[in-house]
Amino acid sequence: MSNKAIFMDRDDTLIKDPGYINNPDQVQLLAGVSEALIELKQMGYKRVIVTNQSGVARGIVSEEVLKQIHKRLEKLLFREGAGIEGIYYCPYHPDGVIEKYRRESENRKPNPGMILKAAKEMDIDLKRSWVIGNSYRDIAAGQRAGCKTILINSSIDQTYRKPTDPVADKQAVNMKEAVNIIKMQDRAGRPAEAVPNNAKSEPSFKAEGLENQADKIQLEGPPQDIQPMGVAAKVKDKETEAARTNRLLEDMLRHIKEMQREGMFEEFSMAKVIAGIIQAVVLLCLFLSLLFLTDDTKSASSVHTMIGYAIVLQLMVVALYMMRGRK
Ligand SMILES: [Mg+2]
Repeated sequence: MSNKAIFMDRDDTLIKDPGYINNPDQVQLLAGVSEALIELKQMGYKRVIVTNQSGVARGIVSEEVLKQIHKRLEKLLFREGAGIEGIYYCPYHPDGVIEKYRRESENRKPNPGMILKAAKEMDIDLKRSWVIGNSYRDIAAGQRAGCKTILINSSIDQTYRKPTDPVADKQAVNMKEAVNIIKMQDRAGRPAEAVPNNAKSEPSFKAEGLENQADKIQLEGPPQDIQPMGVAAKVKDKETEAARTNRLLEDMLRHIKEMQREGMFEEFSMAKVIAGIIQAVVLLCLFLSLLFLTDDTKSASSVHTMIGYAIVLQLMVVALYMMRGRK
C-alpha cells in the first residue's frame, strides 16, 4: 500500500524567513513545528520538505551551504524528537546570475515537479497527501500534483490576493493548526479507525548530501552528534476517556475558530469590492451632472443622462449589498 505524505514548504512554514538564509546559524524553527511534525509521524504521514531555493541561482547561497543549512534544520528537529523523511529543493530561476542554474524548471513551484519526484521515489499516494505552505505558489503546486492543500496565512496579506491565485482547501495560522485540520479530516474520513498513538517519533534519518545536480537530499539516519530530548516520550501509550473527550472538544473549538476566520475572509468579498467601485462611479456621475449644469454648452439632456446613470448604478450598489446581507 502506498504511503501518504505531508509536503511542506520550508521558509515561513517550518522556519523563520529573514529574507534569504545563507548561513546555517540563521535557521530558527517556528513555534510548534517540532510538535506538529511528531504528530504527523504518529498519524502515519511521511514528512517531506519541498522548497524553492532561487538564492542558489541568484548567487546568494551555494548548494554546499544549502546542504549545511538543511543539516542544521535536521539537527534542530532531531533535538526536539522530531524529524523529516526527505528534503527536495529547486535551485533554478530563469533570472539567476549563475548560468548553471539560470533556467525554468518543472521543479520550481508552482510547478509540481518536486512533489511528483518525491511521490515516485517514496511511493506516495498523492490523493491521500497534503501540501502545506505559506504562499499561493505552494497551493498551486499541491493542486497540480493532486494533493489537498492548506495555506498558512499568518505571513501573507490577503488584501493583495489576485483573482488568479488558487484557493486552498483549508487555511491555518501555523503548522500546529494545520495538523489539527488534517487530524479532523482523517477522523471524518475514517471514523472507525483509531489514530495510532504509539508511533515512534524519533527520526530515522541521516543527511547524506545532495544527489544528482538538483533538488534532493535523501535522509536515512539520525545525526550522530546529538541526542533526542524525548518530546515523544511524553506521549502516553494509552489515552484515558477524559483525555479523548478533551481532545475532541479542543478539535471542535478549533474547527469553530476556523469557520469564523473563513467567514472574516469572506467579508472582504468580490461583491463588496465591486459595490465600492460602482459607488465611486455614481459619485463621479453626480459630479459631472453638476458640472454640466453650470456649463452653458451642455444641454439639459446631458444632465438628465448623467443623473439617470447615477440612479441605475446606485440601485446596483443597493442590490449588491442586499445580496451580501442575505448570504
Ligand atoms: Mg514560504
